[in-house]
Amino acid sequence: MQAESGQKSKSATRHGTLGLLGDGREVTRLRLLFLVPLAIAILAILMALMFALYWHEHNSVQKGVMRIRASAQDFYEDSIRYDAHALRAVMDALRRDPALQAALANKDRQRLLMRSATLFEELKKDYAITHLYFNGTDRVNLLRVHTPNRHGDRIDRVTTLAAERDGTTAFGVELGPLGTFTLRLVTPWYDETTRQLLGYVELGMEIDRVLQKLRDFFGVEVFVLVHKDRLDRQKWEDGMRALGRTPDWERFPAMVLGSQATQTVPPLLAERLARGELGDSNAITEAAYGGASYRIAYLPLQDAGNRTVAHMVLIADVSRETNAALDTVYAGGLTALAAGVLLLVFFNWQVQRIGRRIESDAQALEQLATHDGLTGLYNHRTFYTFLEEEVARAKRYRHPLSLLMIDIDHFKQVNDTHGHQAGDAILRGLSERLAEHVRDVDRVFRYGGEEVTAILPDTDAAFDLAERLRAAVEATPFITGTGKAIGITVSIGTASFPSHADTAQALVSAADTALYAAKRAGRNQVCRFENPGD
Ligand code: GH3
Ligand code: MG
Ligand code: MG
Repeated sequence: MQAESGQKSKSATRHGTLGLLGDGREVTRLRLLFLVPLAIAILAILMALMFALYWHEHNSVQKGVMRIRASAQDFYEDSIRYDAHALRAVMDALRRDPALQAALANKDRQRLLMRSATLFEELKKDYAITHLYFNGTDRVNLLRVHTPNRHGDRIDRVTTLAAERDGTTAFGVELGPLGTFTLRLVTPWYDETTRQLLGYVELGMEIDRVLQKLRDFFGVEVFVLVHKDRLDRQKWEDGMRALGRTPDWERFPAMVLGSQATQTVPPLLAERLARGELGDSNAITEAAYGGASYRIAYLPLQDAGNRTVAHMVLIADVSRETNAALDTVYAGGLTALAAGVLLLVFFNWQVQRIGRRIESDAQALEQLATHDGLTGLYNHRTFYTFLEEEVARAKRYRHPLSLLMIDIDHFKQVNDTHGHQAGDAILRGLSERLAEHVRDVDRVFRYGGEEVTAILPDTDAAFDLAERLRAAVEATPFITGTGKAIGITVSIGTASFPSHADTAQALVSAADTALYAAKRAGRNQVCRFENPGD
């Protein structure tokens, strides 16, 4: 068995060209083949997952804000309706007051004021009523109880005109010259008995409370932006000054801030307004400011005449929701990444295992295909491959090359005398002894039966080596498996390139001829090929 391993290590030192060797190339190839696409797929899935998560969370925040907007709109409309009911109830109570009726019929400002001043104070306190008007049948103002000094002007607001036209109560939200919104209810008063029109009475309340409730209930910031084309600049500026504010009509291109809103507009809204941008009322715009995220939603506000005169802007701080969404995305991403890494590690391990198995199988296959099973020497199949290679190399570099052809003498007789198993043991022993005598660069082959060849590159001094080998075989008998010592001899023929032959075939036949000569000359000797004529 020693011969086998000795020969194997020799063969491995040179010419790895015959097949796969266990150098990890297979593992690398499998890694490229499986792990790279897997890693790409994992990355793609990870990115798609994170995007989907982000999109889902983003949409849910967006939907939340849309719900707030829808609820805010309902809330606003309901509040206006309930307030209108309250105004109507108050109006009914006022209308039943004969003193007020008589004073209105007589256009008696003094009595109207006397009768209504304290009443108005109570209404203001209890119902947040801010306006009480008495107008004549011609809509000319007799008395504003809330500002008694202003009178004599004709009131031609939408609600008043509607009450006149329909002869019945009209109500709605109206934009004042200061950009304030007032819910107004106008009722024509008639004489109980004659059914004659006495005049118009108007009640109003500002909608600040509604805006304040919106802020409180929905936790959003609320601003009212009035379209400039619905206002009279001069009146607006005068009014602002009267309220003690500095009017800044030019601050934004298309809108002014309703006077009911807080005057400090957050920069993220101010910037948009300054650019003249006001998102279309269905869009929810995103904005970030000072490390917080916001959503801006718009609600168009119609006046009693159904004209869009302003927009209510709702600014919701969604930092908590977006942070939670980002946390979900990160957590989801990290989990998927961890799973992906585990998968890669697992596949890497499998690829390594399978790759190594393939490599060792390939090595075993190569060993089987190129080596002789009994002696562990290279087999006959590989002999010519190597010889052709060596002859080509020797030709290229103009180096000599020698070939030994060794044959056991009377081996048939050995088999016949001691049995085939003993013959096998001798064959193995001879291989071993051969391996000890040749150099690392030499290669030994089982050529067939009990014939062995050796290719000796870069030398034409094959004779000496052959002679030493022959003498060593003769000198020491071989020990068989049963412990029996059997002495044999060998005959060896040698031939060299280029002196005896210039092709692989010719070299083999020259060595063969020399071997035949050695046999003929009595065996147990070495013969060098003799060129005819030498
Ligand atoms: P010569 O000196 O002329 O070479 O005589 P020889 O008997 O060695 O030559 P021959 O070619 O007549 O016989 C070769 C023998 O080698 C025949 C065969 O039994 C034996 N042999 C061939 N291969 C093996 C093998 O693998 N194991 C064993 N035990 N014997 C083998
Ligand atoms: Mg023979
Ligand atoms: Mg023989």
